[in-house]
Amino acid sequence: MKFTLDTNILVGLVRLYPRDIFPAMWSNIESAVAAGEACICEAILREVKRGGDELYTWAKSLEGFVCGVTEEELAVVAEIAAAHPEWVQGQLNEADPFVIAHAKAEKSTIVTEENRKGSNALGKNQKIPNVADEHGVAAIKFFDYVREQGWQF
Ligand SMILES: [Zn+2]
Repeated sequence: MKFTLDTNILVGLVRLYPRDIFPAMWSNIESAVAAGEACICEAILREVKRGGDELYTWAKSLEGFVCGVTEEELAVVAEIAAAHPEWVQGQLNEADPFVIAHAKAEKSTIVTEENRKGSNALGKNQKIPNVADEHGVAAIKFFDYVREQGWQF
């Protein structure tokens, strides 16, 4: 099973599970990446700078972690932008359509801390799990990912 991680997961790693205190968390993720079971898409790498230079450098230099965008994915991104014009406006949700398109293309599950919105949510307030539904892509939270992997600390 393959997972693609959202920006909030990586930024959360730095803030909540610093490597000097939780080294196994980081090495487990690195092992998952080495096994081809975890990745981020290019758009996320750009956002990861929010988590600081060290995080950016780690993500960028981790072999096989960052997946380039494909034509197929760009087509899905365009489809999402057309369906949810308010959602993708501005920088706030810039990478979100890319994450969904990437997960759809490689048939992976998205790991994100975003909460699902009710069906009456305004267009601009859509969240990854809601839009992912429309593309048959599953989205889970970080702890569910950790449980899924069977990691214990
Ligand atoms: Zn990938």
